[in-house]
Amino acid sequence: MTGSTMSEYDVVVFGSGAAGMAAAAVAASQGLSVALFEKAGRLGGTTATSGGVAWIPDSKHARNAKAPDSRDQARAFLQSQIGANIRTKLVDAYLSSCDEAIGYLEKHTELKFDYVRVPDYVSDASGASPTGRSLSPRPFDGTLLGDQFEKVLPPRRAFMVLGGLMVGRKEIPMLLRPWSSFAAARNVASLLGRYAVDRMRYSRGTRLLMGNALIGRLLLSNIRMGVAIHTGHALKQLYLENGRACGAQVAAAGGLIDVRARKAVVMATGGFPHSADLRERLAPHHSHRHSLASPGNEGDAIRACEDIGAEVDKDMVSPGFWTPASVASDPRGADIVFPYGHLDRGKPGAIVVDQHGRRFVNEADSYHHVVLAMFAHGAVAPHGRAYIVCDERFIRRYGLGLVKPYPFPRRRYIKSGYLKSDRTISGLARQLGIDPAALEAEIGRHNEYAAAGKDPDFHKGETAFNRYNGDDRGQPNPCLIALDKPPYHAIEIVPATLGTAVGLRTDEYARVLKPDGSVIEGLYACGNDMGSVMRGSYPGPGITIGPALVFAYRAMRHAALGDVQLGTQLDRAA
Ligand SMILES: Cc1cc2nc3c(=O)[nH]c(=O)nc-3n(C[C@H](O)[C@H](O)[C@H](O)COP(=O)(O)OP(=O)(O)OC[C@H]3O[C@@H](n4cnc5c(N)ncnc54)[C@H](O)[C@@H]3O)c2cc1C
Repeated sequence: MTGSTMSEYDVVVFGSGAAGMAAAAVAASQGLSVALFEKAGRLGGTTATSGGVAWIPDSKHARNAKAPDSRDQARAFLQSQIGANIRTKLVDAYLSSCDEAIGYLEKHTELKFDYVRVPDYVSDASGASPTGRSLSPRPFDGTLLGDQFEKVLPPRRAFMVLGGLMVGRKEIPMLLRPWSSFAAARNVASLLGRYAVDRMRYSRGTRLLMGNALIGRLLLSNIRMGVAIHTGHALKQLYLENGRACGAQVAAAGGLIDVRARKAVVMATGGFPHSADLRERLAPHHSHRHSLASPGNEGDAIRACEDIGAEVDKDMVSPGFWTPASVASDPRGADIVFPYGHLDRGKPGAIVVDQHGRRFVNEADSYHHVVLAMFAHGAVAPHGRAYIVCDERFIRRYGLGLVKPYPFPRRRYIKSGYLKSDRTISGLARQLGIDPAALEAEIGRHNEYAAAGKDPDFHKGETAFNRYNGDDRGQPNPCLIALDKPPYHAIEIVPATLGTAVGLRTDEYARVLKPDGSVIEGLYACGNDMGSVMRGSYPGPGITIGPALVFAYRAMRHAALGDVQLGTQLDRAA
């Protein structure tokens, strides 16, 4: 060890997203002393800015909601999505611990979930669930955190209204039309009233939702259980003693310090989405510049673990979890990367076309699958381009990218060039550099499909997931409405990661492995630092946070209890 020794704990965790916070909480709940180090100034990482949904097959919550499921069905579904890249032991470990891990977290921490009905993303595949396997964190009152509330990373500005009020997707129509009913007016008044009071004391609203609620809840538990939490502290390198991970060097404002771990060092630093050199090395066939993940996720854990002989797990369906994104500039010229599909996701009346004006994908498929189609079709710069094109009816109803629905103004987006608009399809095509006749023909063909209610080219609207995102105003197909109300609009979309799937190779207790398959004792990786159990497939909502929680649980139960059998002794010990 080289820095000045700071302290010694049973467990030392790096990263404060879902994986790190859950690992710290599970360890502390078993009486272990825990320190959590976070590189950024605030806590929560990508998780805090996410939907917070966890994909948990065969959960008690689903059973209570009368949404039947089974591990066998979920296993068949994952097999169909992952194919030859599947790691059966990891999948079995995951499926056998999902319900148990969530039950444990709900019992021993403030984390509470509700079942939400969202079909699996590939809802026509074998074993898919038409009602889904998603759990959503319950809203959380941030004032319970006291002064620590301001330590929670807020969501992206564009996901809040009035500069700091979190609203759920289902609340947006009510906010846009508060006079539509007495209940809507009352709810909006109550939301705004609480927000006004919050702003007298806090920098934003304290009613936390989604990923912010998940982090707020775990933070409260960790504070109460005495976890030592340090922001502005970054993992630099790991130390081994007789082949066992025994601590780490940490960079803080005051210099380098050493921290020792008696039982476990946990890597939960969120993968490498913001490291250009690791992207080039570990995702060479998916060239991209943008990520919506936390900016500090630069692969520090992967590098530190490789330095002590760990192996990176690269046999993936895809190296990352993707979303199409549009890119605007803030007043200082910095990129604002915004995921396509916030309100406009899969809605009827928009098409995605390439640089030739041709559709190449079912636009109502999941964000991940739309990007895989962009790569497969070559609709990614520098060789190609992709645009979402819609008409005035669509943009007024759902917005488009950063452009919010009516009555929000959109002039500044047109002025900046982010949104292209024109009275005619051919005029819009010329602005995009597309052959006008080709775009007119494609929109004409789409409009015929909309009238017939069938999309023979890409089968839009044929799966439960497609229809889930549709709109009943699209008849006879809720995913198809003609583009025929000028002016016409378009934004360019590019591939961006929500997180990386390639990560450290681990066993089913999330213990980091060497290339020969042996374990580096005392070293665990979870969240996106762990080579994904989903192998870069995206079967349903919550497939990164679900495994982050479950493998954090398995890792820290293992650290406390030693070798235990999958889902049996762990069950009994819970
Ligand atoms: C808009 C959006 C919505 C999403 N919605 C969902 C969803 O609903 N469900 C789902 O499953 N997935 C969702 N995702 C993806 C999901 O958010 C991430 O995959 C997941 O949160 C990653 O969790 P994590 O704990 O591995 O990493 P993170 O939550 O990113 O946390 C990693 C933390 O480690 C810190 N760190 C980095 N380097 C160091 C270091 N050297 N030392 C110490 N700390 C370090 C980072 O600063 C960061 O705070 C979404 C993503 C986005 C962008």
